[in-house]
Amino acid sequence: MPRPISATIRPASLSHNLKVVQSQLQARQGMQPRVWAVIKARAYGHGIESAVSAFAGADGLAMLDLEEAVQCRELGWAGPILLLEGHFQAADVAVLDEYRLHTTIHCSEQLEMLERGAHPRRPIDAFIKLDTGMSRLGFTPASYRSAFERALRAQQAGILGRLGKMTHFARADDDADVTQAQLDVFNQITQGLPGPISVCNSAGTLTPGLWAKAGAAAGTDSGGGPTREDKTPMAARASHWVRPGICLYGASPFAQRSAHALGLRPAMTLSASLISVRDIPAGTGVGYGHIFHAPAPMRIGVVACGYADGYPRHAVSGTPITVDGVRTVTVGRVSMDMLAVDLDAVPQARVGSTVVLWGEGGPSVDEVAAAAGTIGYELLCAVAPRVPRTIISTEDTQ
Ligand SMILES: *Cc1c(COP(=O)(O)O)cnc(C)c1O
Repeated sequence: MPRPISATIRPASLSHNLKVVQSQLQARQGMQPRVWAVIKARAYGHGIESAVSAFAGADGLAMLDLEEAVQCRELGWAGPILLLEGHFQAADVAVLDEYRLHTTIHCSEQLEMLERGAHPRRPIDAFIKLDTGMSRLGFTPASYRSAFERALRAQQAGILGRLGKMTHFARADDDADVTQAQLDVFNQITQGLPGPISVCNSAGTLTPGLWAKAGAAAGTDSGGGPTREDKTPMAARASHWVRPGICLYGASPFAQRSAHALGLRPAMTLSASLISVRDIPAGTGVGYGHIFHAPAPMRIGVVACGYADGYPRHAVSGTPITVDGVRTVTVGRVSMDMLAVDLDAVPQARVGSTVVLWGEGGPSVDEVAAAAGTIGYELLCAVAPRVPRTIISTEDTQ
C-alpha cells in the first residue's frame, strides 16, 4: 500500500473559480476584459493537464516555462499562450515561432535576440513590459517609448506581430494609493501607443473597476487583442487582458479577505491519515526540540505528512488541521515525514482516521500559510512530487 497521503485536485473547482472571476469582471463600454489564466509552476502545483482542461473557458493561458507552454499545445490548447517573462535566450525564439507563443519583452536584450535571430515564419505577438514601480521586470519609464518604437520597427520587418502594453502591480492587495501611482505612470508613458493592455494579477482583477482605469487617458485600443487567428468582430473585442493566478486555485490574494468570502473553492485538498494515536501524561514533550509540552494528560495523533511532503516546517503549534471532520490543531515541530495533532476534541480518532491538512473539509491553505509565516501560493507550489495526485473528474463531483 502507498503511504497514506494524497493531494486531491478538483478541476471542477478550477472551472468554478474562473467563472467567479469572469462574473466579477464587469464590462465597461461594452467591453469585457479577456482572461489569461495563469498556470505557471505546474498550475500552482495542481498540474498543467488539469488546468488546461478546467480553464477551457479562459481566453488564454499564461506561464513562464517554455516546456509548460509546449505541453499546453500538445494537450490541444489552440488559443493564445503568453510567456510572462518572455524568451530567455535566442534559441527560444524558434519555440515561440513553432508553437505560436506570445512573448513578453521586458529588456533590450530580448529585442536584440529577436532582431538578430532567424526570421520567424509568422510574426510573433508580444507584450512590451513597463516597470511602473515593481522594480523587477520591465523597461524604465524613461526607456519604454524608444523600446516600443524599436518593437514597432521589428513589427514592420515582419518579426513581431501585434504588440501590447503590460505592467505589474507591487501592492494591488494592500495599497490603493501605490497602485494608483503605478497606474498613473502606466497611463502617462503608454499614452497613444497602440495595442491591448494587461496590468492586473488576482488582487488587481478582484479589485472592482481597476483594470478599466488602465489606458483610460490614452483611450482604448482599436485593433483588439493580439491574436490574429481571432474571429471575433473588432468592435466586440476587449482591449484589456487580466492575469489572475492564485484566485483560480481557490486561495486568496488578500491577507484580510478569505477565499471563501470571495466565493472561491479550494481546488487542491491535501489529506493524509493518522498512523499512530497515543495518550501522554501532563508535561510530556512532543517531537523534535520538545517545543510543545502537554499542559495536561492528552491524546495526540501522528499524521503521515511532513515537510518532505511540502507541509511547512515553520507551521507553529496551534496550526489548524482537521481530523475525522473535526477541527483541531497541530502540536510540536513538523518532522520530515510526520506531524502531531491534538486529539482531545476527536475522541473517536484512531489509526487510519482521515486528516485534512488544507482544502475541502479542512482549514484553508491560507490559514495554514499564515500560521507558518508565508502565503498560500508557496504551499500550493511546494507540494512535493512524492505526494500522489488524485484528480477527481467532473462526473465524480456533484
Ligand atoms: C504570477 C503572475 C501573475 C498572477 O499572479 P497572482 O497573484 O497569482 O494572481 C500575473 N502576472 C504576472 C506577470 C505573474 O508573474
